[in-house]
Amino acid sequence: MWTKGEPRNRARRIPPQQLSFSTPRRSELQLLQLRQCSSCESTAASKPLSPDHRELGRRQELFTTSIYSPGSAIFLPNGARIFNRLVEFLRKQYVRYGFQEVITPTIYKKALWAKSGHLENYAEDMYTVTSTSPSRAELTEGGEEDEYGLKPMNCPGHCLIFASKNRSYRDLPIRYADFSPLHRNEISGALSGLTRVRRFHQDDGHIFCRPSQIEEEIGKTLDFIRLTYGVFRLGSYRLALSTRPEQFMGSLEDWEQAESSLRRALDASGQPWTVNEGDGAFYGPKIDVVLTDSDGKEHQTATIQLDFQLPKRFGLEYSAPAPELEQKGETTTDPELLANYGPVQPVLVHRAVLGSVERLMALLIEHYNGKWPFWLNPRQAVILTVNDTEPVVNFAQRTQNILLGVSPDALDKPTAPTHLAVDVDTSVRPIGAKIRDAITNGYSLVIVVGPKDVEKGTVAVNATAMAPSDASAEELKRLKSLSMTPEELLKYMQEKVAAYE
Ligand SMILES: [Zn+2]
Repeated sequence: MWTKGEPRNRARRIPPQQLSFSTPRRSELQLLQLRQCSSCESTAASKPLSPDHRELGRRQELFTTSIYSPGSAIFLPNGARIFNRLVEFLRKQYVRYGFQEVITPTIYKKALWAKSGHLENYAEDMYTVTSTSPSRAELTEGGEEDEYGLKPMNCPGHCLIFASKNRSYRDLPIRYADFSPLHRNEISGALSGLTRVRRFHQDDGHIFCRPSQIEEEIGKTLDFIRLTYGVFRLGSYRLALSTRPEQFMGSLEDWEQAESSLRRALDASGQPWTVNEGDGAFYGPKIDVVLTDSDGKEHQTATIQLDFQLPKRFGLEYSAPAPELEQKGETTTDPELLANYGPVQPVLVHRAVLGSVERLMALLIEHYNGKWPFWLNPRQAVILTVNDTEPVVNFAQRTQNILLGVSPDALDKPTAPTHLAVDVDTSVRPIGAKIRDAITNGYSLVIVVGPKDVEKGTVAVNATAMAPSDASAEELKRLKSLSMTPEELLKYMQEKVAAYE
């Protein structure tokens, strides 16, 4: 997506006071209120402050920032786990939705940005990269020192891939996905946490399709979005269609055809949707996903944008029979027309389901407020020893190895990890204190190992943190002391992850 000054446009539409992310740093007093309220919400006299992802991120050791790279989050191990699980979730869905992942450059020569239009429309948001060594500088055809631009978007790179070989109508749609880091030069005063950043990652995807495939591709993307937001249990969202603005590229006919395809796809989605008349980008109409959080604030996340402009700038084409009808999204059975092949310009659909992964993480951090669902929790389980005798410590470590999928004895074989996050606490402290710490630190499963467990070959598991909010007292009691072998526990954990619980 490459609207001019896109982040600023977005901020204009939502007044700053409605964005929880743009609130200034809270005072110590407010933070104190926050801490008191989060543990006793029901007894608080007034509505507690909604949590701030920056404070939660610090407390949960998810990310930090540095004066040496303002606006670029430094993900700590716990934050990196969540980030990678979000990406992994999408990679799995890409198999169903037919996306192929590509890996593309971070810097491209200025000539590419001139071709894509970024130099003209987006230069002030971009970073220039040059050689610091004059002897290594490359020269342009005009004899000047060549400059590179740090990419703010993946689209031009994906257009280069499309153009790298001859394409037939039979090859389409082609769907590329890319998780590259992107850089946009936000002014330093606007930087904040994971929401106003200079470096971020999109779950970026570009679909190159035939004009007749627009409706189906948009329908599938809306389905992908519905599935994803259902898994996150983020609550309701609405879809907003932005239509042709006064200044636009392409023919009126293209626009009308594209907009009616989008409307039909929106109707078929069964989701509520509204129209922002004349609010589309100059290069094509778009659909935005607007989430409403528990405080009633709206957040724009996913986006689907049609683009008639970039394929033209890059001279993209595929060959098809009856090219003139094909370009209008029409088909024919006339054998004479079908015998005539010619070049057709594909439609480009930019789409992101999460949007910015960093921004979505900020939403999730505030939404879950420390109660991560098991599959995303960077602290899934902790094994606590009741004493530090050798059999107990050994059994605890063996259990951890089983849960992690690590075989310390099979050193000649590659490891097949489970990707579960399992810690061990063998410290010599009272078990009651260790359990309390584990619960406070947000572990989903608290596993206790004592001498009797070693004899029986089982562990005692407290899974109450994973109970649904409407669980009965009986169910809670059962979940408090489950007895399982390490292998049974591994299966239990893997089933929860597979079900995105
Ligand atoms: Zn794009």
